[in-house]
Amino acid sequence: MTVRPLDPAVIATDRGADRPTSAEDILDLLDALRPAWHADAACRGQTAVMFPVAEHGHRLDTTAACALCDRCPVRNPCAEAGRSEKYGVWGGTGSGSRRMRQRERSAAIREVLADGDWHSTGDIAQHLKGHLSTVHRSLVGLVSAGVLEQQKRHPSTYYRLKDHT
Ligand code: SF4
Repeated sequence: MTVRPLDPAVIATDRGADRPTSAEDILDLLDALRPAWHADAACRGQTAVMFPVAEHGHRLDTTAACALCDRCPVRNPCAEAGRSEKYGVWGGTGSGSRRMRQRERSAAIREVLADGDWHSTGDIAQHLKGHLSTVHRSLVGLVSAGVLEQQKRHPSTYYRLKDHT
């Protein structure tokens, strides 16, 4: 059976109150704030499997977690949501692979912006053949790291390398 989250707007009023008044309300509210795809995750209730801990001197074993991901119906939105997560297996990838992909994406963005011009998010995503929201997150990260500068020009945001010469 698929469990669907409740609507936060009706949780309290359903129970005759105008705000959450019990631990049960709070837990239901937290549930309702989760993305809808969480309800179909194959790893529900498997936190220890999805967040494996490496024993001293051993590599992290993600075999059991990845086996769950292989048969999970919400692998794509999960992989998208987990791209910047530091820990755990998300969408069939462990933290090491995610960091490697992030580094590759950052290098590819620098390459696109090497001409010193302003480029829109859409333009950069097209060059990288990447998902717009994933590229957007990487761009925001590179702005925070002081690598890029951004300029908002309706309807897009433009980026260029900060210290280009
Ligand atoms: S893809 Fe893997 S980590 Fe993501 S929800 Fe499914 S089982 Fe869980």
